[in-house]
Amino acid sequence: MSASRPAAHPAVFSSEAKTRAIKTSENVARAIVHTIVRDRLRHGDRLPSEAAMLGHYGVSRESLREGLRLLEVQGLISIRRGPGGGPIVGRVDSANLGRISTLFYHLAGGTYAELFESWVMTEGILAGRAARNHDRALVLEALDPYLAEDPRVGVPADMADFVRFHAHFHGVVASLADNRVLSLLLQTTGQIVTHHVVGNADPREGRDEIVRDHMDVARAIATGRPHKARTSMEEHIRHMFRYYRVGLEDYIAWR
Ligand SMILES: [Zn+2]
Repeated sequence: MSASRPAAHPAVFSSEAKTRAIKTSENVARAIVHTIVRDRLRHGDRLPSEAAMLGHYGVSRESLREGLRLLEVQGLISIRRGPGGGPIVGRVDSANLGRISTLFYHLAGGTYAELFESWVMTEGILAGRAARNHDRALVLEALDPYLAEDPRVGVPADMADFVRFHAHFHGVVASLADNRVLSLLLQTTGQIVTHHVVGNADPREGRDEIVRDHMDVARAIATGRPHKARTSMEEHIRHMFRYYRVGLEDYIAWR
């Protein structure tokens, strides 16, 4: 790592959050998430109306709205405005977790060089775990599209579609890591790169290399070789550095 890396503000690393009292709006947010999980609600399902929630939670309109806003900012719910609108269940998307974390990284003085270094490690861990997944039928089914003789068939030409296609592979690998916490947590690094650095790059120029790399990783996972899966993934992420032209010593920014 370069010596010119900006120093983090020392206060950033202190941890006092646990001693802070939970606000009413945070309690509401927690209760709503609990209801979504308990009732097995899915993305797109409606939550009760504001009037119903006010009665149920017994809080002020201000606290309820602040609680909903807290969840909305993190993509955990969306709120349709206007008549017939209301809160809708969102997705558990590691991209949103990553997006929130960029504020922490930025304040800590974290740079893109550190982000890329982390990405190599986190993706490697996910690939290694996926190769150790005992549900081999699930692994083979999930990786089937990436194990084809000529996997370039079906690779989209459009930039946005290509980015989605690329991210999907990494999402599949993460889902096979068989630990929801690790899967969400470790995907955030790649998600920050994919969703927030992509404005400066065109990964399609590496299309053939990316497809080949994915096939190497997919084969190692499919044949249950954790070490090979990990090193192939690490190599793939290092290849990806070339397509993201960002200032490596720039601070990681919210985008
Ligand atoms: Zn990839």
